[in-house]
Amino acid sequence: MSLNGKYALITGSTSGIGYGVAQRLAEKGANIVLNGFGDAGEIEALRSGLEKDYGVACKYVAADLASEQGVAALFDDMAAQGVAGADIIVNNAGIQHVSPIEDFPSEKWQLIQDLMLSAPFYIIKRALPYMRKKDWGRIINIASVHGKVASVNKSAYVAAKHGLIGLGKVVALETAKENITCNSICPGWVLTPLVEKQVDLRAEQQNLSWDDAKMSLLSEKQPSVEFAKPEQIGALVSFLCSDDAAQITGSELTIDGGWTAQ
Ligand code: NAD
Repeated sequence: MSLNGKYALITGSTSGIGYGVAQRLAEKGANIVLNGFGDAGEIEALRSGLEKDYGVACKYVAADLASEQGVAALFDDMAAQGVAGADIIVNNAGIQHVSPIEDFPSEKWQLIQDLMLSAPFYIIKRALPYMRKKDWGRIINIASVHGKVASVNKSAYVAAKHGLIGLGKVVALETAKENITCNSICPGWVLTPLVEKQVDLRAEQQNLSWDDAKMSLLSEKQPSVEFAKPEQIGALVSFLCSDDAAQITGSELTIDGGWTAQ
């Protein structure tokens, strides 16, 4: 399978899962649009590294996706860099905030909905006409086990991820007769900066060493007691982009070490 000549936009790809996905798609020959926050020098090293390691074109677009204007700026900046549209969209940018509902800051609730539910909607809305013109497209939403089940203190995240899976199913139905698929991937724990912050919090609150806090976090939910790896999420994204996966659409695929089998 080759993705030569196709462009993949991966939101939130300056770190963690998104960067792992970018690597796997570049390995298959896809040109890449990176997006996300971070140190300019480090991002440039990631961008040029992908070009050098895989011989593909790689652009970086800095847009903050927590508003419709931010999503418009993403597509404008892509166009300004000569990228007419994306054949592959990976909606991945995300954040977490952990708090009981009665203390949950309303602005954090709104930010999480804007970034993790509304931005994928605005992105898909803008991306579909190009995919239809090319008669091919792949949309992959990085949801979570928290799109299928809940945990305490994660109201905004769980609500956004459940919504994202629902959005993906609607898009799958609206594109079912075309060469376009839309699926959600539901990872369990993956050791990225987003989860490292939760390990920090647990270590502090329960007076544990960092390693003990990490094991306690894992063993509470993930029966394999091992983290999934960003490149494993990337491998599933890559498979979903292949012809073999052409009939997989509207699915929720877990990579969770058994979390949701319980
Ligand atoms: P991460 O913190 O390593 O990466 C998040 C990325 O999103 C970064 O590139 C960051 O710059 C970007 N981002 C944050 N706010 C943004 C904004 N307003 N606009 C544009 N980009 C923004 O986290 P991660 O663990 O790699 O998470 C990636 C996705 O995977 C998220 O949607 C997350 O919910 C999901 N997920 C993660 C886990 C896990 O265990 N790590 C499990 C299930 C699902």
